[in-house]
Amino acid sequence: MKSHRSHLLERIIKAGLRVKLRQRVVCVGIDDRGRIIDITTNQSYMPRRGRHAEERMIFRNPRSLSTIILARISKLGKLMPIECCDTCAKLIKKRGIKIEVWE
Ligand SMILES: [Zn+2]
Repeated sequence: MKSHRSHLLERIIKAGLRVKLRQRVVCVGIDDRGRIIDITTNQSYMPRRGRHAEERMIFRNPRSLSTIILARISKLGKLMPIECCDTCAKLIKKRGIKIEVWE
């Protein structure tokens, strides 16, 4: 996966810039063979709480998902610090998924 890192970063930034919200969060789902299976972003959902990219990733990929890459993008397309929230961290742990933060 390492050799694809810069290409993947480009895809993450592209996906992040499409989010029309104040926070732009992107998740990349990797399966147990190291293949990219999905890319999700956060999404507005209810006035008080949007859907997190991690939640959407997990709900969309029931089985083969083994690692999640989590990243936050500035409106200028730069990586920003991010931490998984408690709710998503619990979900991820329960499913035995690894999380990798790019920042
Ligand atoms: Zn979350």
